[in-house]
Amino acid sequence: MRVLVVEDEAVLAEDMAAGLEAAGFSTKICRDGEEAWFLGDTEVLDAVVLDLGLPKLDGLTVLRRWRSAGRTVPVIVLTARNDWTEQVEGIHSGADDYLTKPVEIEELVARLRAVLRRTHGHAGPILRSGVITLDTERMRLCVNGKYVALTQLEYRLMAFMIHHSGEVLSSAVLRDHVYGDDESREINAIEALIGRLRRKLKVKCIETRRGLGYCLKDDRP
Ligand code: CA
Repeated sequence: MRVLVVEDEAVLAEDMAAGLEAAGFSTKICRDGEEAWFLGDTEVLDAVVLDLGLPKLDGLTVLRRWRSAGRTVPVIVLTARNDWTEQVEGIHSGADDYLTKPVEIEELVARLRAVLRRTHGHAGPILRSGVITLDTERMRLCVNGKYVALTQLEYRLMAFMIHHSGEVLSSAVLRDHVYGDDESREINAIEALIGRLRRKLKVKCIETRRGLGYCLKDDRP
């Protein structure tokens, strides 16, 4: 899952991005409101962490513009501690949740996972698709109840696919969500990654739709 981190304080932005990467997300950092607004239109994003006090264009304005343009990407806003008016304004402007500064990375990760679960219609932290379960809190994947160790990239791919199970996902979409800005990655890197994942999972759950992409079989009603 790919997260845009919008924060002008460089150290905080780097800390949040590092924490999110360690939690299995791919990230992109941007440092002002105008760029954030632009990236919201041009980038593939699964969620945004948005500071409100930003140079060029403030966070609330960015959020309102996205929402009035129909952009539904989940957004968590960062607000000043004890400023309940900012929190309420954030929610009114279309934020899905808020987090007060100073940011605790673990709390950010927990809230982001919860927002993503709700967005994709999952009630709890354990996502299921057929015989596969993915515990998004512990970052553990099981097949038929047996733990399967994944690399960071395999986990990212699996987490994205299970959030979108039943949907056909093109290699280009998968590459953008798994590798983010790493443009050196060719589309066939996804093919290789899918191949490795299939060998590890040992069950036929990832279908190839020729010419279209891949689909994680979904047996939810
Ligand atoms: Ca700021």
